[in-house]
Amino acid sequence: MSRAVPGLLCALLAGALGACGGDGDPQVAEGELAWRPVATLAFDPATGQTPLLPLAAGEGRVTLRVHSEPGVCFQVADARDGAGQRLAEPFTGPFCATCAWRTSRVRTAGLLVLEGRAAGLSQIAFGRVNCQTLRPTAGPGPVTVARLDEPPAAADAGLALRLVASAEVDPEALAADVSQELAGLPVAVVATLAIPAQDLPLEGRDDDAALAALLADLPPRPAGVIDVVVGPCLTRADPFGTQRLAGLTPRIPGGAGPADAVFVSRQTCGLGGAASDDPRPEDPTRLARVVAHELGHYLGLFHAEDADGAVDDLPDTTSENLMDRAPLRADARGLTPAQVARLRAHPFVR
Ligand SMILES: [Zn+2]
Repeated sequence: MSRAVPGLLCALLAGALGACGGDGDPQVAEGELAWRPVATLAFDPATGQTPLLPLAAGEGRVTLRVHSEPGVCFQVADARDGAGQRLAEPFTGPFCATCAWRTSRVRTAGLLVLEGRAAGLSQIAFGRVNCQTLRPTAGPGPVTVARLDEPPAAADAGLALRLVASAEVDPEALAADVSQELAGLPVAVVATLAIPAQDLPLEGRDDDAALAALLADLPPRPAGVIDVVVGPCLTRADPFGTQRLAGLTPRIPGGAGPADAVFVSRQTCGLGGAASDDPRPEDPTRLARVVAHELGHYLGLFHAEDADGAVDDLPDTTSENLMDRAPLRADARGLTPAQVARLRAHPFVR
């Protein structure tokens, strides 16, 4: 079954057809996201912090895209709303678990979607962190900030995926199943690419070299389309040994920076001696659930509750939810209104 996604197809066809849905929608007609440069800030070499950048109030969907020099890691070190209240502050892990606005460490580039409490953001500053220890560090360098202002997502807006697979997957069935898992958000697989079976070993939390190398071999991805890579066997070394990963999204939210895609392991990876080229087809239910969970991360959702007890920054997330940290649990279904609002604020929902 294929779902009707007129807004989405409109945006994707606009480049070829020159216009879509009448005139007067330049962002659709352009076929690209209309990022507007805002500022280039400098990390203070002695502290690794930038000054606070004032941000003009926005209406509708506002997203910041931030860039450092390649390989430089940084985080939101300060963020204040119009009343001067701090929404974010320096943190020492992969993300700020206690901030009113939960943000992640960024390496090279990332998106910041100004949604919910962050919609009223009036000032923001960044600070360098050590990519391995994730602790604040000194050092110079630029941070370039661009901004995208768009109207709220249309009612029929949805996700366009490029399915990159070494496993046997039915693209239309996957799109329909993922849409159902994502509370009915329209989902379309707009392109498919076959890749060889392979193992993708990652050396620790900061290593995404194998993921980036896989993506570098693919044709360029159209703006606003999310790559979903299904099939490679993902493993990650950590101090406790090597973990097998069911899925991985390198940054929350996704949309910029290295290894920018959703990755899902073949279900038979590491089981009974099965190799990454196991020819058995994927179980569609499991695949859809894991892909939808990883897309939830890509669109800005954190786990309802992490292993250390930290909960996300939304008011209504329950433990029986797609964003359970174990998404294959039987009751890991559904999304709350605040979660749906957050994913619809991501600029790739078009
Ligand atoms: Zn997860």
